[in-house]
Amino acid sequence: MSNGQQHNHPGARTGTRNHGVNTIDQDQFLTILSREDALAHFETALFPRAMPVEERSLAEALGFALAHDLVADIDVPPFDRSNVDGFAVRSADLANAGEAAPVRLLLNDEAIACGTAPTRPVLSGSATSIATGGPLPRGADAIVMVEHTQPQGNRAIEIRRAASPGQFVSYAGSDIARGETVLRGGTVIGSREIGMCAACGIAKLSVVRRPRVAVISTGDELVQPGQKLRPAAIYDTNGAIVSAAVAENGGEVKFFGAIADDEAELEAAMRGALETSDMLVLSGGTSKGAGDVSHRIIARLGKPGIIAHGVALKPGKPLCLAVCDGKPVVILPGFPTSAMFTFHDMIVPVLRRMAGLPPRSDAKVTAKVPVRIASELGRTEFVMVSLVEGADGLIAYPSGKGSGAITAFAQSDGFLKIDALADQMPAGTETEVTLFTPHVRVPDLVIVGSHCTGLDLVTAPLARAGLMVRSIAVGSLGGLAAAKRGECDLAPIHLFDEKSESYNTPFLGQGLELVPGWRRMQGIVFRQGDARFKGLSAEEAVRSALADPDCIMVNRNQGAGTRILIDRLLNGARPDGYWNQPRSHNAVAAAVAQGRADWGMTIAPVADAAGLGFIPLAEEHYDFALVTARRERAGVQAFLEALASDESRAALKRAGFTKA
Ligand code: AMP
Ligand code: MG
Repeated sequence: MSNGQQHNHPGARTGTRNHGVNTIDQDQFLTILSREDALAHFETALFPRAMPVEERSLAEALGFALAHDLVADIDVPPFDRSNVDGFAVRSADLANAGEAAPVRLLLNDEAIACGTAPTRPVLSGSATSIATGGPLPRGADAIVMVEHTQPQGNRAIEIRRAASPGQFVSYAGSDIARGETVLRGGTVIGSREIGMCAACGIAKLSVVRRPRVAVISTGDELVQPGQKLRPAAIYDTNGAIVSAAVAENGGEVKFFGAIADDEAELEAAMRGALETSDMLVLSGGTSKGAGDVSHRIIARLGKPGIIAHGVALKPGKPLCLAVCDGKPVVILPGFPTSAMFTFHDMIVPVLRRMAGLPPRSDAKVTAKVPVRIASELGRTEFVMVSLVEGADGLIAYPSGKGSGAITAFAQSDGFLKIDALADQMPAGTETEVTLFTPHVRVPDLVIVGSHCTGLDLVTAPLARAGLMVRSIAVGSLGGLAAAKRGECDLAPIHLFDEKSESYNTPFLGQGLELVPGWRRMQGIVFRQGDARFKGLSAEEAVRSALADPDCIMVNRNQGAGTRILIDRLLNGARPDGYWNQPRSHNAVAAAVAQGRADWGMTIAPVADAAGLGFIPLAEEHYDFALVTARRERAGVQAFLEALASDESRAALKRAGFTKA
């Protein structure tokens, strides 16, 4: 099959293949393109294109691309000008001047200040007082600095050194000559360019008009930030993040809010948005769900229609790229991180070209990956990473938590790319990391392990003191492994050893020491007022739950200390919900609070925050494995001090933790 036909969505035109009537629904992901092919086809369909031009005042042209070459129509400076405070002279008069042969010049009856046009010529034997920036009078060809002259009364000066012709003179046009191209078309206007234009007297510039980009979020579940979240709804993250990213890359944003998954409503919104825009960016509705309709609408919006629906990217496979009557129309995947990666990788190049801006030049660093990263064969995969300093260079920790996690984006330093042809990146690989910010700032303290809200309380004074703390949540075991490899300063852990019935200490290896942290009361949570649990002990509560066949529990993952407690209480029973095994204390509380489960086990502060009833059972020990070799680092010392302080003891207590 020829690749030329392959990239067209079968529903977008009558292709060479023989499709049935339902081709759009059935085949939408059959023709997945590589990221390179998809981008190339998209760009071919859009460029070259006419760039709309507008005139903007100098100040308002900042950040825009100049539409045409800019030619100076005056000389800068406009006249021959003195560079110093001194006297305008004829250099020939001073040809023989020297220490032993002073030359006396009579002063002309004027002083040329800045902005004053001279009226008298400098005749042989005379000089005229002139200020820096003053225009050279007729006859003069050099300036003598005032420091190199002796006054002889009011009417004359004496000079004891020769002057070369042109000395301390800036000639007309020496900076910018009339007719010279001062700025090339395509130059992005910054403060320096604005300065050049101002010097030439240019008040208005022809610039490439910002592409007007309409942004629409789609989904019945979306609520705008600032409004109240109804059950099963989520906040519209993409609307805000895509709008900001459009503005960052030279587009003028018009945000149309979130539109429900209703074909007629969405089509009306898309047509309306496209009418007044140069580009339309939607998000959501690209996966194969019943409510996903936007790609069907695109096929009706204009020619040639869909260029790619399905790109071999991870995250971001359901990306849809289209061109409708010359305007790019894009559907980004719904998950915010997927939306952002595809936007930056596939849309930003096109948007910047439309805005006349050069491609982004993101800063890159080389770093080593400490763990093997699995990758799907056949898809270019982007993996967000946090950077920490290792013994011999930077280390890049994968920080993605699946394509739904927005925090990973905010907390990462950048991302690495795994080639479509690779099924993994082995541990120890040196790889290039593209930074989200222009520079890496290596943290002063690196904490890798299990996260706890108490940790933020203890590190608060460090942050106030200007220390940068990087905390990477990889769970207790992941933290221990990182500490053993020397990749962090501290690993917060809460690991229970069944044999010794004790926490954490049995897990420390060579080179690690225990720094006691705090205790977290674990117990059974239930919705306030649930008569099955109220007033009971933990053992009684579990018995009561087991006695009710309608009662659903929520468990914890294997390896969690909490799980061991639950299993003991259950004593071999496997009630409904046992196999629901979330990995965090918060997920347990959410499941119970929202009624997906009736009981579970979590820690007291989390139960409180969720407004749940709580039956205390046993304290969990949240401690730190400290890498002994890193104990003397300033960041570690600051942490140990903060941990021992009355301030953090009190803050921990207020939050429901007990300092060890
Ligand atoms: P979809 O492609 O519409 O099926 O969306 C995939 C996932 O992304 C779903 O979990 C959506 O709730 C989520 N999602 C879609 N749009 C947004 C948005 N604007 N903000 C946050 N999440 C979204
Ligand atoms: Mg949706």
